[in-house]
Amino acid sequence: MNTGFYVSEIDEKIFARIDGKSYKKNCSVPLSELRYLRLLHKDFRGETATGELICNKAIADALTDIFQKLFAENYPIEKIRLIDEYDADDELSMRDNNSSCFNFRYVSHTNRISLHGYGLAVDINPLYNPYIKTVDGKKIIAPANSVEFEDRTKNFPHKIDENDLCVKLFAEHGFLWGGNCWDDEKDYQHFFVEMGR
Ligand SMILES: [Zn+2]
Repeated sequence: MNTGFYVSEIDEKIFARIDGKSYKKNCSVPLSELRYLRLLHKDFRGETATGELICNKAIADALTDIFQKLFAENYPIEKIRLIDEYDADDELSMRDNNSSCFNFRYVSHTNRISLHGYGLAVDINPLYNPYIKTVDGKKIIAPANSVEFEDRTKNFPHKIDENDLCVKLFAEHGFLWGGNCWDDEKDYQHFFVEMGR
């Protein structure tokens, strides 16, 4: 049971993959607070694929449970790779529809560490579930190649909405969903816990 899913600490081998990338030189989150997850998921061809994800230890068990249930229900997730494979470039990872969690960074234009910087936020199928915000009347959409998925009244595969299994499973573990949290921005790919930060 549960073969294919495990949680481990960040050992030297894993650290070598993230050092200077998602785990930047100025990273203020101790490695001991992070966990590496190996998990299985169904890709867009319906085949079983292996995923890798780094998250905060506070949510490692919750994520394991959520991804086990998504896998059991054949929920399609295209790829779950460490963002370090994209040089920790969030835009490149999203453009490639990569689902990911930990990446040490600040919220744009602030000195606030992003919840991704603590490994407390997860993005699922981001190409189909963009981040949308209007600043000074100008619409920002990320990733930039997700414009055709901006209109959430349309039906298309991999769209996360209120009825999506991800929304249900993450909510059961106390996560919030960026698709219905705020009035002035939407982040349909983004599931997170506040943890009093
Ligand atoms: Zn996110």
